[in-house]
Amino acid sequence: MSSSQQKVEFFDENGLRTDGRRPDEIRPMKIKIGVLSRADGSCYLEWGANKILAAVYGPREAHPRRTQLPDRAVVRYRYNMQSFSVEERARPGPSRRSSEISKVSREAFEPVIFTEAYPKAAIDIYVEVLQADAGTRTAAINAASLALVDAGIPMRSIISACAVGKVDGQLVLDLNKPEDNYGDADLPIAMTEDGGITLMQMDGDLSPEEFTKALDMVTEGCRQVLAIQKQALAEKFGSFGKPEYATLRAEKISQDEPEDDIDDDAAADDEIREDVAGDIEIREDMSADVEIREDMSADDEIRDGMAGDDEIREDAAGDDEIREDMAADDADGVIDDDVEFTVISEGSGSDDEDGYDFDADSEVA
Ligand code: UDP
Repeated sequence: MSSSQQKVEFFDENGLRTDGRRPDEIRPMKIKIGVLSRADGSCYLEWGANKILAAVYGPREAHPRRTQLPDRAVVRYRYNMQSFSVEERARPGPSRRSSEISKVSREAFEPVIFTEAYPKAAIDIYVEVLQADAGTRTAAINAASLALVDAGIPMRSIISACAVGKVDGQLVLDLNKPEDNYGDADLPIAMTEDGGITLMQMDGDLSPEEFTKALDMVTEGCRQVLAIQKQALAEKFGSFGKPEYATLRAEKISQDEPEDDIDDDAAADDEIREDVAGDIEIREDMSADVEIREDMSADDEIRDGMAGDDEIREDAAGDDEIREDMAADDADGVIDDDVEFTVISEGSGSDDEDGYDFDADSEVA
């Protein structure tokens, strides 16, 4: 941001900006989720002339091991601006700017990712700026947020980001390049769905009143971004988690169609079923999980059975005659038949270990 002496016309006679937008309008955004087959999650996002590619790997074991955290996953975020992405070739490799953006962007995600579910793991987020035109950090955060969802990383909320700034004494949403370069203030923000701020930076000057108004504006901007993100997710994943989507479609179809046209209504129902087919597949996976849980309860039964065995063993321990017989068997060297008791008592221990292993797996999976 340079508050320059240079005279730049930011608004035309109709109060529209250099790119034809109203002051409170964001640039058009295009999103495609799941563009990289080798990443766990990915997203390509265009916002105005910004072009961003985000890839997420993990959760996976953190390496080097000294970076592992015993109680949670480490989140790593790398923002990289390709040298060909800007007008004047950028020097390749990390810079002070990219390190700063990587740090604040990582901090924008840490509060919403359930890192505690993945001790010793790493969640790696890489963003590549392929073309830059102001607002790349916010565009990258929006892409990374969707790549995290695509990777199936459990999060408390999607993160949506947008900037607000001031040009010619007027607040404008989602700064374009001239506004960023020659304006008076730039305030990039990232927030959760319910408006919790996870990133706030400011360059330039705003009065307290302007700041309050800017926050309202940028909150609205983030809401608009969130709506586009959700639309992109619905396109990729269908209406999972939103049963009302099918209902809304059904209502819309029944309004559009004559009521007595039963065949058409049935066809509409088929359409809805096709829409939710993706969801059903996901639910089938979930029912597979339920089966696993049922298996676990079967284990419980086995453990209960073993507790019953304990009773038997207590009985056996109480039964001096049997012990004497066993001792006699020992003396005879005929102990193979009794080994079963030993195996059962060890089995109880090994079952616990199985239980532990399962928990460990489910934590890292
Ligand atoms: N920019 C550039 N060369 C650089 C860094 C930035 O041309 O080495 C441009 C690029 O278009 C970027 C804009 O300046 O989007 C604003 O950069 P800033 O540091 O404000 O971050 P951003 O707004 O992209 O998050």
